[in-house]
Amino acid sequence: MIKDTSSVVNALSIDVEEWFDTVLFAGDPAFADKQSGLPADVSRILVMLDTIAVKATFFILGSVARKYPDTVKAIASAGHEVASHGGTHRSVFRMSQAEFKKDLADSRAALEKLTGKAPLGYRAPTFSILKNESFYLAAIKEAGYAYDSSLYPVFLSHRRRAPYTDASGLMEFPPSVFSFAGVKLPFLGGTFLRLMPKNFIASRLAGLNALGLPGILYCHSWEFGEIAPTGTGLTKQLIQYSNVASVAKKVEYLARSFKFAPAGEVLGLSRGPELNMNLSAKDMVLQTACRLPVSVLQQ
Ligand SMILES: [Zn+2]
Repeated sequence: MIKDTSSVVNALSIDVEEWFDTVLFAGDPAFADKQSGLPADVSRILVMLDTIAVKATFFILGSVARKYPDTVKAIASAGHEVASHGGTHRSVFRMSQAEFKKDLADSRAALEKLTGKAPLGYRAPTFSILKNESFYLAAIKEAGYAYDSSLYPVFLSHRRRAPYTDASGLMEFPPSVFSFAGVKLPFLGGTFLRLMPKNFIASRLAGLNALGLPGILYCHSWEFGEIAPTGTGLTKQLIQYSNVASVAKKVEYLARSFKFAPAGEVLGLSRGPELNMNLSAKDMVLQTACRLPVSVLQQ
């Protein structure tokens, strides 16, 4: 096991969506009425997080909030951060600017109605902010959010990999990457989390923390399902579900090996007694972006 000697606190995040909301299945009416395992999958995640005494951020779709209000309430009442994953899982580059603004406002209102607290965080479905970042970040800020976690700085991207505050005043917590031969590669979520060995992922995260950078681990509620859906076709099954059973084990392993907290808390934005209570109980060190060294902020 990796020995974590860093004081850096990482963020743990879960995107709460149906398995057929992903890019692979979206828009296919054949899957829209399939049996959903979402409430049971989220319950399994809540039990795991309770067992290891870690709080996380749940980026939840507005459509999920409308269909499963009790699931959203259970997440909030367990002391986790509730954030927005948009109204539906439609990629934002497929929306007009007006549709995007409405989506931001609607999903925020749906979550606030259930939790009594406006969400601070937003993550675009499939990290689908690909260009025109300044428009999107300003719109997210204008809708009342305090941070975003959508700008994946992959491959030769000019995007920064440390948290920073955008010109609009919105904080950005970029999904984590590591550098290899000058190329930025993902490792802490999605397909990469499913396929890469846990020790490889842990050593990349330790490397990030050694630079003073917090990582943000992301997984999906459907990755905690007990059985993969059938009738999806072999190719799609292999793409979405290869090694999916390893996700829960890897998340638990990483959460036991490193320090983790909700993303809003890692950014120093947390509001409300339950998050702060969790912080003191875990004796965690807050690292807001303004407390990170300048050399880190430039990465
Ligand atoms: Zn998603």
